Amino acid sequence: MPSVPLDFLGDLRRTHNCGDLRAAHAGQRAILMGWVHRRRDLGGVIFIHLRDREGVTQLVFHEDGETAVHQKAEMLAAEYVIAAEGVVKLRTAENINPAIPTGEIEIVVDKLWILNEAKTPPFPMEDNVDVKEDARLKYRYVDLRRPRMQHNIILRSKIAYAVRQSLTEQGFLEIETPYMTRSTPEGARDYLVPSRVAPGSFYALPQSPQIFKQLLMVAGFDKYFQIVRCFRDEDLRADRQPEFTQIDLEMSFPQQETIYQAIEPLIQRIAAVAGYEVKLPLPRLTYQQAMHSYGSDKPDLRLPPFQCVEDLFKGEGLTPEGLPLVAICIPKTGPVSRKERDELKAFGQEKGLRVYDDAKRLERDFPAAMEQVRKRTDAGEDDLLILCGWGSEAKGQRPEETVLQAAGQLRLHAGQKYNDRHKLLDPKDFRFLWVVDFPMFEWDEEESRWNAAHHPFTSVHDEDLEKLTSDPARCRAKSYDVVLNGIELGSGSIRIHRRDVQAQVFAALGLSDEEARHKFGFLLDALEYGAPPHGGIALGLDRLVMLLAGETSIRDVIPFPKTAKGTDLMCEAPSDVPERALRELGISIRKK
Ligand code: ASP
Repeated sequence: MPSVPLDFLGDLRRTHNCGDLRAAHAGQRAILMGWVHRRRDLGGVIFIHLRDREGVTQLVFHEDGETAVHQKAEMLAAEYVIAAEGVVKLRTAENINPAIPTGEIEIVVDKLWILNEAKTPPFPMEDNVDVKEDARLKYRYVDLRRPRMQHNIILRSKIAYAVRQSLTEQGFLEIETPYMTRSTPEGARDYLVPSRVAPGSFYALPQSPQIFKQLLMVAGFDKYFQIVRCFRDEDLRADRQPEFTQIDLEMSFPQQETIYQAIEPLIQRIAAVAGYEVKLPLPRLTYQQAMHSYGSDKPDLRLPPFQCVEDLFKGEGLTPEGLPLVAICIPKTGPVSRKERDELKAFGQEKGLRVYDDAKRLERDFPAAMEQVRKRTDAGEDDLLILCGWGSEAKGQRPEETVLQAAGQLRLHAGQKYNDRHKLLDPKDFRFLWVVDFPMFEWDEEESRWNAAHHPFTSVHDEDLEKLTSDPARCRAKSYDVVLNGIELGSGSIRIHRRDVQAQVFAALGLSDEEARHKFGFLLDALEYGAPPHGGIALGLDRLVMLLAGETSIRDVIPFPKTAKGTDLMCEAPSDVPERALRELGISIRKK
């Protein structure tokens, strides 16, 4: 039984939402509905902040006005659901609340309906209170009522709409692809769905719509897109979700350039929804350039690039002959203490670098070379300048890559360490770029074989086709990533559309004909029925919304996310199932 008498909604309708009313509405009657956000009882008068997804409006109940209504208002508590009718009134000057858009008015209520009561919420509905994430996820429907989460989910919806607008205007068609399917080629584990009618066989949930979108090109549906859920059973890391959303697209007869030209205005439009301006065209770096300037294939352009300066120190033994010597400049750090330098040095050493942290000393020993280093890095008196090369402890088969990557990590680490001084790592400074021409293959140390760097349907550069089997390490792929502030937002490629080339790539990957047929036979068949040249890309929607919302966790832009361990704390999934269900599926559980 409810603890207060409840009213029916009947055919009562709202006249406005809780964010609508302004001074210009003064004198009008209004009916609002929503949740009791806050209640203040000053004896003769009760103030309620009424909240819905559009905002908050103040309601006033006077004891000397409608007494029965005032008495009813006394029963209200946090998160009760009510409807209120009354007259919009200007607040007196001293009562104006500039913090909310409706802050100039209030509603003097003469009719009140209590539509539902609420238990005391597990945490306050404010943004700035520190609530444990487990509690937020268990009571997600309450957590989602908080203004910040409302803002994030609404932003996400607006972005999805902008995606549909931009791509539809560009002539793309929105086409759905199946969720119950066969294994796809993204290289993670599949989530499997057992079949009841064919016990012992399984559907796989798609890791991406990759094969289907390629088939749509074969089918003649040039320019496909989809905002689509993908499923990957990977070892979970803090910011990974077993299911996530991509903006996925594919086109026929494209050059790489065609894809960039479709995606750039899309990105611009999406950023504009969040209130940010992105200038086009986006900068482009080849994979090689990115590695030699940032030590990363997802460079954060907010910090200056590093410079390779081994040519200035030939024969000095700072790094072994033929390996890079990297000069990192972090602007405006001011004086850096001994202790701080030691910390940076230890960080670099742990990654396999020999770190020269004492620029003064280098300047004494190599004055001419250091003058050039300062010129190349543009390092001034106030800036931190570090040189680093291959450390004697360093291991690994590809020392050049080790030095560049480790130097890239040191650059970011030092950049973050002094961000409070140079303030370059501003989360609202959106530096999108393309990284293009990735290597076709990656060497898998553990398995001693080549893997596809993107996926096995990616096309190789026309000039590199001959090297597919003779020199796989030097094959460049027609692939490209969109990167934002050190985060890979999406990747794509021009695909292989010829059966013979696809066979060569499978061979280079050590995939036998039989294995290839078992895994992707239907795509291979389709390539023989007039497949056009095609290519596409997928952008991660969750990360994009996260960055544009100024959040640091994708869980804060997904309505019902899973924990870092892959569980849903609210509905307690995954869960066990009745024995009968397993029997029907022909499944018996082997206890570990
Ligand atoms: N299927 C790829 C992925 O999910 C994207 C693409 O190549 O279009 O990463």
